[in-house]
Amino acid sequence: MKAGGEPIGRRIIAAEPDPRHTAPVAELKQPGWQQELARAVRDPLELLALLGLTPAQIGSGETDASLRAAASGFPLLVPRSYVARMRHGDPRDPLLQQVLPIGVERLPVPGYGADPLGELEARATTGLLHKYQGRALLISTGACAVHCRYCFRRHYDYAADVDEGSPRWTAALDHIAADASIEEVILSGGDPLSLGNTRLAQLLARIGSISHVRRIRIHTRTPVVLPERVDAGLLSALKPYRERLAIVVHANHPAELDDATRAALRELATQCSALLNQSVLLAGINDDVDTLAALSGSLFGAGVLPYYLHQLDAVAGAAHFAVDDERARTLHSSLAACLPGYLLPRLVRELPGASGKTPLV
Ligand code: SF4
Repeated sequence: MKAGGEPIGRRIIAAEPDPRHTAPVAELKQPGWQQELARAVRDPLELLALLGLTPAQIGSGETDASLRAAASGFPLLVPRSYVARMRHGDPRDPLLQQVLPIGVERLPVPGYGADPLGELEARATTGLLHKYQGRALLISTGACAVHCRYCFRRHYDYAADVDEGSPRWTAALDHIAADASIEEVILSGGDPLSLGNTRLAQLLARIGSISHVRRIRIHTRTPVVLPERVDAGLLSALKPYRERLAIVVHANHPAELDDATRAALRELATQCSALLNQSVLLAGINDDVDTLAALSGSLFGAGVLPYYLHQLDAVAGAAHFAVDDERARTLHSSLAACLPGYLLPRLVRELPGASGKTPLV
């Protein structure tokens, strides 16, 4: 938030259409996931109506106007299949809370800002962050399939990094090709799986042709919120890189993993060497041992290993999700007591300028 209480602007870019979709509609039908995304819920009042809720049930002082004002800087976006996993009539539903804009987001909180991880300082060139030794992070797109209210990049200026013209990603790829110390390229955004299969395949091919890049990592929340995205075209786009590909999905709550999502994750697991999950510890959503243990168990059942449990990044608009470090450590230690080691995510925080994630335990 700015000092005056106005939300900091974030450039929202709609999920990118596959280039084939410039052809007449009669000739080419959109893939199912793009059709699903086109009909995603974008209005907070529509979302509440679908769940049989009113603004007053969300919190005292919430009104039609307060919800819409909260959505003005960082709009609501949620696929209908994700809404279908929410409990009807429950204003505290853990999935609803992750996506519903609320009035408190507009209140300035000391210590919470637009660039909590100092990413502007880490920008090596257009579309490329070089924070960690041997790894570079490519901002592949500004689009996502969902807008998470706690997102640390909710104010990120994607306009400066996402080149809508052609050729795209050129500066970032040239930088990677010129620096032989970069062994791993991390595709981030936004969400890389917002790219159509053709564009994603083009990007992977260009990265894959750089001989010193030994690993490619994709960070994505899309398979969790929009499992239709894991289609045959995506699986074949990933297949040539399977042996050097890690995919990190992002699930925060076991209720996110319905049958369709688990099936999609199992398919995804066939096309990469490691399928991992990172969660954010979120007050009122997953800050209890039973929920976190159930999440780890469900992930394992879907072929995914828990990787990180992140402390919230101090991004403006998300302070109400914070869990203090002492409580986070207590939760993690209780989790360690009831889970085998391979199902225990590492509790970490990311600090601006640090050479890697900082363990809290
Ligand atoms: S999907 Fe990821 S990048 Fe997109 S809004 Fe959610 S947390 Fe942020």
